Amino acid sequence: MLKKLIDGQTCASCRICCEYDDSDVWDAPGFTQDEWDRAKIADRFTWCKKGDLYYLDMEKDRDGLYHCPCLSESGCILGDKKPFRCALWPLYVVRNGEGLYFAVSDVCPQVFSMDDEKILSGIESVANIIRETVKKDPSLIEDFQANYRILANINEVG
Ligand code: SF4
Ligand code: SF4
Repeated sequence: MLKKLIDGQTCASCRICCEYDDSDVWDAPGFTQDEWDRAKIADRFTWCKKGDLYYLDMEKDRDGLYHCPCLSESGCILGDKKPFRCALWPLYVVRNGEGLYFAVSDVCPQVFSMDDEKILSGIESVANIIRETVKKDPSLIEDFQANYRILANINEVG
């Protein structure tokens, strides 16, 4: 979804967003029912359901990291069937006061270092899809976190 912003070669040597430690494993993506059905991975990995979302089990390795089992040497095996939260990463749609805003996480060194204008121009063409997706499923809207930077109201992009 964010192909205009993210350079795959930079990601190949980073991979931060598909690996977690104890401080951010809570942020591992949950799959909505539609996303889970589309991904067709229920027979391939162990998983659990919390509330309305499906989560893949992740074992902690010797370095204290949890790796998403969908991460392969060549990237995410789900391709365009990855969940919305992954497709939108490192951006989020967050509630802030009465409005909904695009925000960027400081965990992604590649995109967080760009100025707001560059990030927003990179999502202009998909802003409407994002708006429609969160309208259809408001559970995809996140709470604002201290390490996010607010970019713009979602209705003012695209
Ligand atoms: S954190 Fe950013 S740079 Fe690193 S792999 Fe994820 S999208 Fe790529
Ligand atoms: S589903 Fe794919 S993009 Fe999402 S965390 Fe797992 S490997 Fe990364």
